Amino acid sequence: MASYYYRFSKALIMLCLTCIVLITQAQSQTWSLLQAPKEITLKLIRDPVTLSLASIDYGHIVHDNPFAIFAPSSISDISLLINFSNSLAIPITIAPRGQAHSVHGQAMTNHGVVVNMTELNGFRNGDGIVVVVDDTTIGPYADVGGEQIWIDVLHATLERGLTPLSWTDYLYLSVGGTLSNAGISGQTFRFGPQISNVHQLDVVTGKGDLVTCSAENNSELFYAVLGGLGQFGIITRARIALGPAPTRVKWLRLLYNDFSAFSGDQEHLISFNGINETNAADYVEGFLLQNQPPLDLSFYPEPDQPRITSLVTQYGIIYVIELVKYYDNSTQEHVDEDVKLLVERLKFFPTFMFEKDVSYEEFLNRVHADELFLRSQGLWDVPHPWLNLFVPASRISDFDEGVFKGIILQQNITAGLVIIYPMNRTKWDDNMSAVTPHDDVFYVVSFLRSTVFDKLEEFKAQNRQILQFCANAGMGIKQYLPQNKTREKWEEQFGPKWKTFKQRKAQFDPNRILSPGQGIFN
Ligand code: FAD
Repeated sequence: MASYYYRFSKALIMLCLTCIVLITQAQSQTWSLLQAPKEITLKLIRDPVTLSLASIDYGHIVHDNPFAIFAPSSISDISLLINFSNSLAIPITIAPRGQAHSVHGQAMTNHGVVVNMTELNGFRNGDGIVVVVDDTTIGPYADVGGEQIWIDVLHATLERGLTPLSWTDYLYLSVGGTLSNAGISGQTFRFGPQISNVHQLDVVTGKGDLVTCSAENNSELFYAVLGGLGQFGIITRARIALGPAPTRVKWLRLLYNDFSAFSGDQEHLISFNGINETNAADYVEGFLLQNQPPLDLSFYPEPDQPRITSLVTQYGIIYVIELVKYYDNSTQEHVDEDVKLLVERLKFFPTFMFEKDVSYEEFLNRVHADELFLRSQGLWDVPHPWLNLFVPASRISDFDEGVFKGIILQQNITAGLVIIYPMNRTKWDDNMSAVTPHDDVFYVVSFLRSTVFDKLEEFKAQNRQILQFCANAGMGIKQYLPQNKTREKWEEQFGPKWKTFKQRKAQFDPNRILSPGQGIFN
């Protein structure tokens, strides 16, 4: 009994000491910041409204309280802040924040400084996006500030008849934010993720150095930063590859109840992936229609909606391939024939193919219409317990059986939007920090849920159950936009890349000050 009390008191003392150390550390950081040079302190914002805005993100799950928000008015301000932090006995953590569309506090810091990247817009004088049309060596490109959002990149490039080749589904994300992850969408199978479409970067490293890097120069930093979860430096400029912009798209949805026919057709479609391949689709995604409210059928013609509803009711889950073929004046004549060739051998339910013809911009910016609707209903700023996985193609039917038909269909929890589509690993560069499964083809499966605070725990539990199922089945999945909070989980996530990731951290951010919200080194 005495030994039990002894051990208990010892544990309590250790806990108190840890708390005291943490509190003292936070106080000393606060004190240090107040001693910073004027160029820094003048740009620190500490009003309660700004502080509370920086302590939440799109996820509404994690809340970290920063000491201050930094409003840089130049790139050298960012270097100055990082240099100052490195000069302290206990460096201050620094979190670049793009649009804070992370769902698990990735752009936050407790007691540190959040760098509000959008402030850089002010000093750019309209030069945040510069389009170059006539570079004879690398072709057209755009030099884009890391703080810029993709919708603005789209507008600026379309003005010159050009466009980035690889996208995300939603365009109000910052360039620095998506390049820190990968940036994926239905074009990835053909052009690779957004990180595969970058020629060059300007980065302020965790040591405070402003470095221009590419695959040829300072390549270690270039590869580290792309998909690097903000761990090595702050991206202040990216040179993005461009191609000719189409003007319109044929946008198709094909319905299936048989998973193997659905995934077989998706994999067939992404096997045509040469950049100039005329018989290739330009975009391939997919998602589930589930027998759960709300069943959004707004894409489909009204007279067809009842028969789609009965199909979903009958099968519980319907799989939908979303397919797009771009066109312009020069290809308009044969686009219908091209679409016919694309779908003629596919095994969807006969007569369950639906098509829309919209402008290129309307298609790319499609999620914004949903955003406006959800905002109008007060359903945008709510908790988002998302889970994004990369699943090897060799295990995708096990995933369907165990997760879609097992966990999702069996449990009475609204699954939200579930997206599923395959990508080709050859379009990813393994030198970069982003991690993928080993298979040549792997799927992204995204559970994009929104909920109320009372139900959050149910969703988190279901996410854990899905991860556990995949681990038990030895599926070799990887998380996209990962939310690992223990060192072991991070090592598992990075697998053989962990050693390089750690070495690069020691090289470019030795004091571990950048993007602590990822929870990798902090
Ligand atoms: P933030 O959340 O601000 O930051 C993300 C991380 O990057 C943080 O660790 C931050 O510290 C770091 N960071 C931010 N800026 C920089 C910088 N300039 N330099 C270095 N590090 C930086 N992703 C896809 O790939 N495809 C999709 O289709 C897709 N759709 C989405 C739809 C919605 C509605 C939402 C909310 C997210 C979606 N995402 C998608 C995820 C999104 O790409 C990531 O969450 C991305 O990080 C968001 O960019 P952000 O500007 O909000 O980044």
